[in-house]
Amino acid sequence: MSHDADVLIVGAGLAGACAAFVLSQTHDVHVLEAEEPGAGASGAAAGLVNPFMGRRARPVWRLREALEAVSTLLTWSGASALFPQRGVLRPVVADEQATAFREAAAEHPDLATWLPPSDAHGRFSGVATEQGALWVPQGGAIDVRAMVRALLEAAQEHDAVVESQAPVLYWRETPSAAVVEVDRGDDTEELRADRVLLALGQGYPRFPELRRLGLDGVKGQTVRVQRPSALNASFPPLSGRGYVVPDDDTLVLGSNYDNNFDNLTPDPDATDYIQEKTARMVPDLAGAEVIGERAGVRVKHTDTNKPLLGPLPDRTRLWTFTALGSKGLLTAPLLAQALPTYLEDPASIPDPVSLFGR
Ligand SMILES: Cc1cc2nc3c(=O)[nH]c(=O)nc-3n(C[C@H](O)[C@H](O)[C@H](O)COP(=O)(O)OP(=O)(O)OC[C@H]3O[C@@H](n4cnc5c(N)ncnc54)[C@H](O)[C@@H]3O)c2cc1C
Repeated sequence: MSHDADVLIVGAGLAGACAAFVLSQTHDVHVLEAEEPGAGASGAAAGLVNPFMGRRARPVWRLREALEAVSTLLTWSGASALFPQRGVLRPVVADEQATAFREAAAEHPDLATWLPPSDAHGRFSGVATEQGALWVPQGGAIDVRAMVRALLEAAQEHDAVVESQAPVLYWRETPSAAVVEVDRGDDTEELRADRVLLALGQGYPRFPELRRLGLDGVKGQTVRVQRPSALNASFPPLSGRGYVVPDDDTLVLGSNYDNNFDNLTPDPDATDYIQEKTARMVPDLAGAEVIGERAGVRVKHTDTNKPLLGPLPDRTRLWTFTALGSKGLLTAPLLAQALPTYLEDPASIPDPVSLFGR
């Protein structure tokens, strides 16, 4: 039986969209999305490109390549305007951080600069920087939903098919094909391809084969507020007590971490918590008008806290690309870039993220 595509991609979040764009250059691609592109965690993300994460500002995995991959993918898809690279400011919010931040700046002088309190205050007056700050000029923020849409549109220009409202219910593989069953309302349809790439993000819990990979989900929320007039348009993205991401005349504030959730509705208590937390970093945020909230689930691998890519255990044609955790922007473009090579040669997937042979 003939195939419907070379690669069927299930899920149109950041992982699926990056994969669809890259693979559409060389393969027949068909994307199946249960709701609409960016409906999952990608639609809730604040969009921080934060190369030095966590309290100790540790560099993310393959930092330089990851940063370059974001820009390359956006330029290649004609969407470079989505990442103006305005920098990220990391104000010190705990005593021991100043030492860690100075060390990060000393180890990566081309990527990070330590700002003593007087310098930090002079440059970023609306931010509490009494203990100094780390300035990361190549960081910034991206509207993740807009990025997903732009990548899918660019993929469609290369003849990819992108379907919304097309939930996948089931998958299997035969010696000659990977097969998915799509919910078509009153009926179901089987589609066949050489490979299926499961990029389900927060949709994994329904599928035992994905749950068995050791995935875990942490709910989080972002809150959009009107930008207070005291904070001018050049206000940078911030990561310290939560994060603050400017977007025109609004700011996106994040986030909370909820391990015990039973629904994905935004929670008013979480909104209060996020506003209070970020206002300790940017006092003008206290009482800022809330204009929207979004919640999503960060999916991570419980042991490695790194993405997972490759064929599912005991499968060859059924692959997954998942567990992007809190840093999808610095992992999805990096791994998607090399997907054509990885599909040809799964042994070339880097060990820390590879499912091949596990
Ligand atoms: C509150 C919050 C803030 C965040 N902030 C940042 C940030 O500032 N910077 C950063 O880099 N990362 C951030 N992240 C993490 C980032 O959002 C994720 O790493 C990334 O978006 C995950 O993308 P994904 O494609 O794997 O998953 P998702 O975005 O969840 O996409 C999966 C898609 O698959 C679809 N799907 C699910 N099941 C099926 C099915 N059966 N059939 C068909 N389609 C299906 C879903 O509808 C969804 O569209 C944040 C996450 C959260 C929750």
